[in-house]
Amino acid sequence: MPGILVYALHDDEGNFNKNSLGAISAASKLAAELGGEAGAVVVGDISDDACAGLGTYGAAKVYRAKDVPEGLAQPIVDVMAKVIGDDGYGYALFGGGLLGFEIGAGLTARLGAGVTMEVTEVKVADGKLVAERPILQDSQIADVGYVAEPGIIIGRLNAFDIDESGSGAAEVTDVSVELSPWSTKASMVERGEQRGADVNIEDADILVGGGRGLGEADGFKLCEELAESMGGAVAATRAVVDAGWYPYAAQIGQTGKTVAPKLYLAAGISGAIQHKVGMQNSENILAINKDPNAPIFEFSDLGVVGDLNKIVPKLTEAIKAKKAG
Ligand SMILES: Cc1cc2nc3c(=O)[nH]c(=O)nc-3n(C[C@H](O)[C@H](O)[C@H](O)COP(=O)(O)OP(=O)(O)OC[C@H]3O[C@@H](n4cnc5c(N)ncnc54)[C@H](O)[C@@H]3O)c2cc1C
Repeated sequence: MPGILVYALHDDEGNFNKNSLGAISAASKLAAELGGEAGAVVVGDISDDACAGLGTYGAAKVYRAKDVPEGLAQPIVDVMAKVIGDDGYGYALFGGGLLGFEIGAGLTARLGAGVTMEVTEVKVADGKLVAERPILQDSQIADVGYVAEPGIIIGRLNAFDIDESGSGAAEVTDVSVELSPWSTKASMVERGEQRGADVNIEDADILVGGGRGLGEADGFKLCEELAESMGGAVAATRAVVDAGWYPYAAQIGQTGKTVAPKLYLAAGISGAIQHKVGMQNSENILAINKDPNAPIFEFSDLGVVGDLNKIVPKLTEAIKAKKAG
């Protein structure tokens, strides 16, 4: 069947993550072009209404595995592999993010499928999906096609826009899946929050990124106050994460998370390529750096040359004053 299966990640309260909703929206449009449907896999005890509500984003069917835990990749690979096997989906599409990457890679290995990662766009050519993947430090785009089904496509985080124009409620089916022995070897002990991670940085519209220019771990207070004044979250470079100044959950870049907020404000960040790849899709980039030749200015929409210790507190004060009156 020329259908596309998506995994819909949710938090403990059952709210679906916007990255997944974007993937469902993209899958729905592409499946329609292929003459098929988009299906979504949901794990955990999520209500009928919440599952059916995925129809708003274009899901025709929702496969709910109530007893399967959220948060670990292998059990979800089991569920997706069964649904693909039973209902013959031609493709699986993931919106990216750490769990999406892990499930997508696991599903690829399980099914012996072809996979494309870091995809920014998907199109239909000759009745098949073709994934567009930036290569050579994003200077070129490669078109990647599939010689056999199923094909696995893993997008960059938030690469796919959310579209709420789906018609009607999705049909919800409960699936029962026997988990593979290795899938139950790990169990979720606790899902906790770390300092700076109380807002999921992958979902935040506003991010204040802090780098080595903050001088010390305590320098992050400046970023936290600024982020709080704007209702945003705090992100970090690898240099400061490695130095123990901020948790890994906040790291942006090649070996961290990929984000695409409306505003990314970089304070004391040089703009190394490994950091850039994680935040270059931000709608607006504002950089504060004392070095006028810092590479970050080459891809910023607005650059402020100066000492962040003077600029950031003034900016926070000004935003608070504007909000107050
Ligand atoms: C394989 C590999 C993977 C990597 N993965 C990642 C990754 O995922 N994410 C990542 O971020 N990095 C990653 N890196 C590291 C990356 O190469 C850079 O070293 C790192 O991003 C630099 O962090 P930074 O900008 O905080 O520090 P620096 O490069 O030291 O920059 C600090 C900046 O602060 C400015 N500054 C100093 N004081 C002030 C002040 N008072 N006011 C204003 N500005 C000031 C300086 O001018 C400078 O530009 C990786 C590297 C490798 C080799």
